[in-house]
Amino acid sequence: MDMLKQRIRQEGQILSDKVLKVDSFLNHQVDTELALAIGREFARLFADKPVTKVLTVEASGIQFAMATGIALGVPFLYAKKKKAVTLAENVYSAPVHSFTRQETYQISISQKYLGPADKVLIVDDFLATGAALAGLVQIVREAGAELAGVGCVVEKSFQEGRGLLEGMGVRVHSLARIASMAPGEVHFMDDERT
Ligand code: 5GP
Repeated sequence: MDMLKQRIRQEGQILSDKVLKVDSFLNHQVDTELALAIGREFARLFADKPVTKVLTVEASGIQFAMATGIALGVPFLYAKKKKAVTLAENVYSAPVHSFTRQETYQISISQKYLGPADKVLIVDDFLATGAALAGLVQIVREAGAELAGVGCVVEKSFQEGRGLLEGMGVRVHSLARIASMAPGEVHFMDDERT
């Protein structure tokens, strides 16, 4: 997605060879027009699959799940990272290991909102190690729902996330695939869609 890659080149801050900061337009302050365009692009890429629900994990996937839900005309649902008292029972949950924070946390979704009749498209802001998305895939499978695939806004292709998801039999589309990066420069893979 050219518009996205251009913004990453212009505004992305590469904090190390592994961490890209995009909080001026993607995941802190959010460019709403860009977010809506991202939602339309995910809807287009998965147009061959019927989707009844878009799924993400709080917090920074929410704007893209909402935009995709709008484009597809379906609801979106987000997994919670902390167990709310109102979400105490009847949840699907999965452990997610955060490599950046070196801790494991649970993500949960109420069983009321996901079930065998659902066809789910998962979206998220970043694909890095794939741990968060693998947790969502596990929940979709536990719920007996059908998985259309995973859409990522930014994929750091030099990390293991895509391999992990594909190894689970999941179709992955990313809108910007970063082959490598270093302070001041970012290199994208030629084909950002496969
Ligand atoms: P995972 O390692 O599970 O694929 O990524 C977990 C989460 O960490 C992502 O959803 C994203 O919110 C965050 N993350 C991973 N790598 C980066 C990065 O380079 N930049 C930013 N801003 N967030 C990241």
